[in-house]
Amino acid sequence: MFWSKEIELMDRPTLEKLQLERLKKTLVQAAKSPFYSKILTKKVISSIKSLKDIQTIPFVAKPELRENFPYGFLAEPLSEIVRMHSSSGTTGTPTVVFHTREDLAHWTDLTARSMYMAGLRKEDVFQNIMGYGLFTGGLGFHYGAEKVGAMVLPTAAGNSKRQIWFMNTFRTTAVHILPSYAMRLHSFFPEAGIDPGKDLALKIFFIGAEHHSEGLRQQIQEAFGVKAFNSYGLSEMCGPGIAFECPYRNGMHLWEDEYIMEIINPETGEVLPDGSEGELVLTSLCRTGMPLLRYRTHDLTKIIPESCPCGRTHRRLARMRGRSDDMLILNGVNIFPLQIECAIMSVPNIGSNYMVEIDKEDFLDRIHIKLEVNPGNFTGTLENMEAMRRELVEAVRTELGLTPRVSLLEPNSIPPWEGKAKRIVDLRKNEYKSE
Ligand code: ADP
Ligand code: ZN
Repeated sequence: MFWSKEIELMDRPTLEKLQLERLKKTLVQAAKSPFYSKILTKKVISSIKSLKDIQTIPFVAKPELRENFPYGFLAEPLSEIVRMHSSSGTTGTPTVVFHTREDLAHWTDLTARSMYMAGLRKEDVFQNIMGYGLFTGGLGFHYGAEKVGAMVLPTAAGNSKRQIWFMNTFRTTAVHILPSYAMRLHSFFPEAGIDPGKDLALKIFFIGAEHHSEGLRQQIQEAFGVKAFNSYGLSEMCGPGIAFECPYRNGMHLWEDEYIMEIINPETGEVLPDGSEGELVLTSLCRTGMPLLRYRTHDLTKIIPESCPCGRTHRRLARMRGRSDDMLILNGVNIFPLQIECAIMSVPNIGSNYMVEIDKEDFLDRIHIKLEVNPGNFTGTLENMEAMRRELVEAVRTELGLTPRVSLLEPNSIPPWEGKAKRIVDLRKNEYKSE
């Protein structure tokens, strides 16, 4: 049940004492980097006496990482660095992150702890359908699953037919996959003559690395006959393994022995109480190669104030609502891409692979939803299709207050993305936005 009972069930005062100790160490370590050497003077470091004092330290975000590219945040000589990763570059030039051997050991421990919490065991066959390489989703989970002792199939992303062949041949029980890719993969099963819910040995899916709705999780669970666990991470903090769902699957425990989390008002920077929604800010507590303090993730979420029935004392984060820099303004109204997905998922069995074009028509913003319908829907009549289309228009109107254009497409007509989904195409600016 627990990977490390002592850490996962640590009482709050002890956990906070540990956080403060580690924070002080991290400040000293970070001060070795060119960037922090200017900020973290001896006086500043000695003024940090309680966890709350962290609020006197300035925030950092992607712009600082880019301005100090590539080595400005490095707190160890390059000879101590054993690996580099980079962000996916969803929102611009990728940022690079450096790891010492010790950092990798911590990271592996966190992904192992996370997967074990969700039920992965040494008897499992774990298929890691994530990009290997600079993206952290591949190697991060890979080493964690090996540490648990599962047999890892590093099949990496893409080639759906081959993925199915591996799942079937080696009786895969656990899978790590992008939620946007899961349902696309599912559409290849009829051709293979396999019903994943009945014919395979699948039990657990780890889904994360991108925003997705509860509705999409439900669809994935039903389609594959699995329990899907939400996994959150970002390369600047190491990668996946930072916050993860326990068997109760109601929010993700953020591993507070390794990170300090704060929720701030993204406009004012003010720290908000538990339960209020705002931007997640993270401080690493065990990283030595490139420690980051008060890193603004731009991810909007809240800390769930109630304790979890599983008994873990590390507080939970609610499902991410979006990135603050992802918000769309349509006819003056703020909308998060995830709201569109929620509307789609509210129409039973319609389909789950979609993209959205935003354009101007007669000086008004219009959205055009292109949705691949589930294969089963093609046995229906044209009237049924039209009724489904109308239902979706209505669902979007209720959720967003605007009437979309909806095109229902055959399965696999939307070209696949490389890596994370890029569902929103904003033709008003002629640029792509990720979800
Ligand atoms: P990039 O910011 O370039 O995409 P990363 O690959 O490091 O770089 O991705 C981290 C980001 O992915 C997070 O900041 C967040 O926006 C998103 N993300 C990761 N996991 C989840 C999740 N479980 N739910 C929602 N968003 C997630
Ligand atoms: Zn729990």
